[in-house]
Amino acid sequence: MEKELKVLPLIPLRGITIFPHMILHFDVGREKSLLAIEEAMLNGQEIFLVSQREAKIEEPEEKDIYSIGTICNIKQILKLPGNTIRVLVEGQNRARLTSYIQKEPFLKTDVEILEYEQCKDKDKCEALIRSIEKEFEEYARLSNSVSPEALENLDDLDDPGRFADIISSYLTLKESKKQELLEAYEVYDRLEKLLLIITNEVEILKIEKKIGLKVKSKIDKSQKEYFLREQMRAIQEELGDEDESKKEIEEYSQKISKAKLPKEVKEKALYELNRLNSMGNYSAEGGVIRTYLDCILDIPWNKRTKDNLEIKRAREVLENEHYGLKDVKDRIIEFLAVKSMSKSLKGPILCLVGPPGVGKTSIARSIANALNRNFVRMSLGGVRDEAEIRGHRKTYVGAIPGRIVNGMKKAKSKNPLFLLDEIDKMSGDFRGDPASALLEVLDSEQNKTFRDHYLELDLDLSEVMFITTANTLDTIPRPLLDRMEIIDVSGYTYEEKFHIAKRYLIPKQFEEHNLEKGKITFSDRAISFIIENYTRESGVRSLERKIASVIRKAIADMLERDKVKITITVNHVNKYLGPEIYTYDKADKTDKVGVVMGMAWTGYGGDTLPVEVSIMPGRGKLQLTGQLGDVMKESAEAGYSYVRANADKYGINPDFYKEKDVHIHAPEGAVPKDGPSAGVTMITAMVSALNNKKVKHNVAMTGEITLTGRVIAIGGLKEKTLAAFRAGIDTIIIPKANEKDLRKIPKSILSKIKVILAEKIEDVLENVFVEESTNDND
Ligand code: ADP
Repeated sequence: MEKELKVLPLIPLRGITIFPHMILHFDVGREKSLLAIEEAMLNGQEIFLVSQREAKIEEPEEKDIYSIGTICNIKQILKLPGNTIRVLVEGQNRARLTSYIQKEPFLKTDVEILEYEQCKDKDKCEALIRSIEKEFEEYARLSNSVSPEALENLDDLDDPGRFADIISSYLTLKESKKQELLEAYEVYDRLEKLLLIITNEVEILKIEKKIGLKVKSKIDKSQKEYFLREQMRAIQEELGDEDESKKEIEEYSQKISKAKLPKEVKEKALYELNRLNSMGNYSAEGGVIRTYLDCILDIPWNKRTKDNLEIKRAREVLENEHYGLKDVKDRIIEFLAVKSMSKSLKGPILCLVGPPGVGKTSIARSIANALNRNFVRMSLGGVRDEAEIRGHRKTYVGAIPGRIVNGMKKAKSKNPLFLLDEIDKMSGDFRGDPASALLEVLDSEQNKTFRDHYLELDLDLSEVMFITTANTLDTIPRPLLDRMEIIDVSGYTYEEKFHIAKRYLIPKQFEEHNLEKGKITFSDRAISFIIENYTRESGVRSLERKIASVIRKAIADMLERDKVKITITVNHVNKYLGPEIYTYDKADKTDKVGVVMGMAWTGYGGDTLPVEVSIMPGRGKLQLTGQLGDVMKESAEAGYSYVRANADKYGINPDFYKEKDVHIHAPEGAVPKDGPSAGVTMITAMVSALNNKKVKHNVAMTGEITLTGRVIAIGGLKEKTLAAFRAGIDTIIIPKANEKDLRKIPKSILSKIKVILAEKIEDVLENVFVEESTNDND
């Protein structure tokens, strides 16, 4: 093919490569280049543009300039300030620099136009073109630097060489790569190189995008949240909710400033309020914060009631609200007297111990009245988890503060009388020991800064007066017990119950039923009848319920029969409450062999506990039934050994065990029984059964025994005595060591009961048997 030669001025290009068919403008400032343009403008506006190998070279020499470039047509020249011009050119042909004609004042060269051959293998070319097209589309998508029109224009091209050049001109490539494409003279070669380069570029773009996405997604997330929040705010504004939430924040803010909170609490409250403010109205977290703020605002951080430490008044209040309980009232007054001297109520915690229904709670309430303090009560029964005392951390779903904080909220003052009920019914498990949390609550050294997990703030409990109650001391953890001053509140006698019913329970029920005075009256006999035949308890709780029940029925009766007044008699009681439930006075009025009445004491007060022994042929086996606890079983065994060892003393065949078995049974088998104090009872029953001697039915006894037959002290004498008296017993046998406890028993009872003091088991046995012996086993 004939080669076409031209003489053209040359401009070395810095940082750009121009392809045929490409339109491009660039700025020219170098003197030599300006002159070259001038020359070109004078001679057909053609110029040879070749790239420099390195852009930064100011005065390129031959070696710094590539030899293949593009002949361009100058389309436009624009003068710019500062002796530079902007030139718009259109690429025409590839050309090779064959030689320099002149280097000064501008470059002038001989150039040879490179006409390229069309594709020989059309299919191969077509295949390449398609692949390039596909890749280029991908490239355009990923790089965002190619206009959609550019892609459309490609469709019209049927010259593969031109196609390659145009695509090359769109790519953002390194100079050397572009030059490579420009130098690819053969069309097929050019397409192949282009495909390689463009595929490579697409890969790189994909990786870039992936990295970019990762970084971006992190930034995006917070942006997105911000965006959504703003959107929500806009929606709320539209709906008018914005005002609501503003109002809410304003309300909280006022409450906080009015509440006179301690500094730390106020800071925390404001911090949370701030968080609430930046949160949407409907976010779940917002709800948590509201509950928390409400909780903080409900706590009486600085509110107190003024104490009234006037002892006279306190005495009056206690006397007015409770009958009897002399010891208890005296102890409480003493306690308050000491406190009033020191003007502070710190010190040991009072613990009221006694059976249910004896007025522990209500006397605590009276103390609060007497002192002019608010009263709160919290039951510890069944509390097993430390969190119940100290709360759950806020991070838990549905977290709530502990019972102490809740109690303080209810108290509405920081110095209430706080009653911790049933402290003996608390137990620990794997979730932590509530007792140790309680210890902190009760300890005056530590409770100034009690910390609830939910609240996360120090709560000052040092001004609270704590009083605890328990049914028994046995199950109270030792460290707690050590901090408390025990006050026994034992059961009531019949007479006391009668007075309590008449003066307190009945008027209270009238009040609760809104009854005018005089509409219903109780005859004294009726009250006694209820106490004796429908209740069997140390306290008066069930008595109170029975009275309430009688009153309800009486009201119904009055309405039905159009009566204005009614006086409750024994007959009425019988009609309203049904047949008598407890009738011990009438029953068991016969003396029996092998049946002895014991006196027992449980957390629910005193009770009578019969023990039965029967003897049968056998080989000395001792059988025990009736849900006896370990201590009671051992006590039975010790008693059995004593009887065997001392058989001849009591006229029993010492070899009885060779042919006889002994069975000891405590009736009411469903009720568990334990304790050592049935020792004397069991020995007496065994001796009675083995000797076939009847035991007096009107005698009850209690006492622990040793193997040598000594009778030793027992607990709960007052409770036991009252129970025995209730059961119609008129003689009790008790350990001599318990003589000192007799003074606790009301005189009214003591005067009606014969007390026998026993030092040894002989002292018991001498007094219990009915004189003549009999074969009648009934
Ligand atoms: P506890 O706390 O010991 O189980 P409560 O305090 O609940 O007993 O007393 C039960 C009911 O008996 C209450 O209504 C109480 O007022 C009344 N009560 C108990 N003892 C007396 C008393 N000595 N004088 C007047 N009311 C009493």
